[in-house]
Amino acid sequence: MTDTVSPSLAKQRHDILAALAKAATPPPRLIAVSKTQPDEKIEAMLATGQRLFGENRVQEAEAHWATRRAAYPDLELHLIGPLQTNKAADAVALFDVIETLDREKLARALAKAMAAAGRRLPVFVQVNTGEEPQKAGVHPDGLAALLEVAVRDCGLDVQGLMCIPPVDEPAGPHFALLAKLARAHGLAGLSMGMSGDYELAARFGATHVRVGSALFGAR
Ligand SMILES: *Cc1c(COP(=O)(O)O)cnc(C)c1O
Repeated sequence: MTDTVSPSLAKQRHDILAALAKAATPPPRLIAVSKTQPDEKIEAMLATGQRLFGENRVQEAEAHWATRRAAYPDLELHLIGPLQTNKAADAVALFDVIETLDREKLARALAKAMAAAGRRLPVFVQVNTGEEPQKAGVHPDGLAALLEVAVRDCGLDVQGLMCIPPVDEPAGPHFALLAKLARAHGLAGLSMGMSGDYELAARFGATHVRVGSALFGAR
């Protein structure tokens, strides 16, 4: 770890937490997105006291966190990237929250993996609010049916919704839609907002913001 990394990461984190506290009461929780970050930056972020992290690939998350878990028992790891059914067991073994449930087949695979592992993890459903063909997430009009399968048939502990708005559109309407869908289904959790729009997301009621580059520096 260099002398300069830790102070600047600590300041960036402090500034983001202050902005979130100003934007909403209570403020959303800050998920530090550590994908592609080198070990020294992850260590520096842990040294600031940050314990909530997000990763978007199971294998990379294992490399970053499998051995660090033991040293940081209060670590909380969220999977924020698309999950293949054949990686469900690995994801359930490593993560504390799965934010990217988006189809029935995955709901069944997660339920099976959780039963086998004896772990019942909180789950968020990823909604493709912009209905973009290349993007993961259930379309808004398929959410009710997916929740029915996930909660009633599979017994998953669905706690909230997650979205990644289209890059070329204002995020506000997408955050508003996600908040409305969560209210309609009685879900409290809202994971939305990234480096460019975490304050906006906080004002729309985010309970979790997922921030990478604004916290760690450009990837
Ligand atoms: C990478 C990533 C983020 C963080 O993106 P930044 O713009 O660097 O803050 C948030 N959410 C998801 C799902 C991601 O993959």
